Amino acid sequence: MTDARTLIVPHGDVERLLPMAECIDVMADALAATTRGDALLPLRQVLRLHSGRDAFAVMPAVLGNAIGAKVITVFPGNDATPYESHMGVILYFDDTHGRLLAIIDASSVTAIRTAAVSGLATRLLANPGASRLAILGAGVQAMTHLEAMCAVRPIRRVAIWSRSEERRVHFAEWARARFALDVIPFATAEEAVHGAEVICTVTSSRAPVLHGAWVAPGAHINAVGASIASARELDSAAVVQSLLYVDRRESAMNEAGDFLMPRDEGEIDNSHIRGELGELVLGRAPGRTDAAQRTLFKSLGLAVEDVASARLIYDRALATGVGIWIELGGLRPAP
Ligand code: NDP
Repeated sequence: MTDARTLIVPHGDVERLLPMAECIDVMADALAATTRGDALLPLRQVLRLHSGRDAFAVMPAVLGNAIGAKVITVFPGNDATPYESHMGVILYFDDTHGRLLAIIDASSVTAIRTAAVSGLATRLLANPGASRLAILGAGVQAMTHLEAMCAVRPIRRVAIWSRSEERRVHFAEWARARFALDVIPFATAEEAVHGAEVICTVTSSRAPVLHGAWVAPGAHINAVGASIASARELDSAAVVQSLLYVDRRESAMNEAGDFLMPRDEGEIDNSHIRGELGELVLGRAPGRTDAAQRTLFKSLGLAVEDVASARLIYDRALATGVGIWIELGGLRPAP
């Protein structure tokens, strides 16, 4: 049957259709497929706006039979406004006729899939009994990261730091109510990470918020915030002393200030990257071999993560009748 409809999936529906635990498994499959060479994944194209702080990014990928692209703006200053820092859509196409199957809210997918990838890294790298979590940053990613960490480790105590007292206190109240955990807001990042077994850095900072000297032996870090070559959330010591894993080598070599800056300082070389997450999933890279080792996952975010999420969301939406259908076009005009 000829169908020219496109499905629109708004924020609330994405949250229902992309549960965290399942998204972690979908990310494992997507990253393993990427490592196996089953994806087309160019580096993202980022146009710098205004002072260079804001950006417009296009992230295309083909993953098996799934074709898609995320088109977003990134406005870090939005943390002081009612708007999210990342806004836009994921366009999802079929590979039979190239039809546009779905237009999906990108803010919610980005929030969930990024945390899910950190969840995967934590599942693969953190010590199994890790129960003390520290989160630096109290925005959108902080919320989904808490959920992801609870999905993969027996988290009992959460330390939260952000510069704004109001925001860190509010986050602690929200987290206590949502997860029934012991959640403590701290006025400094150093206090927050003291004794932490898992640390997530999810700030928009361009300069280090986490110092290696503060990180306990055995800790696992998910470094999520800085995603351009000129920004870093970790000082060099935090990177040098850790076993470093990335979502993708090519992206890290081009976009990861947390890796590039210590490398350019001569502290490490390219061989400091011990593996991609996909290699870990496939058993092609060594993981942690000692409970006292510090491990670090540098996240940049890949379009395959968005396309894999879009495929799941679309299939689920079809099965459950969720979303809004429109006729956008695409049917050949009658003669
Ligand atoms: P939000 O805007 O929701 O929150 C940002 C947080 O960072 C707030 O807590 C904010 O303010 C804090 N912050 C801002 N500037 C600084 C600074 N100079 N020093 C310390 N803290 C600062 O952003 P998101 O949660 O959506 O994103 C967080 C980070 O993750 C961003 O850098 C974003 O680009 C990145 N990201 C990475 C992805 C990936 O795949 N790796 C995907 C999506 C986002 P305050 O301290 O006042 O609380």
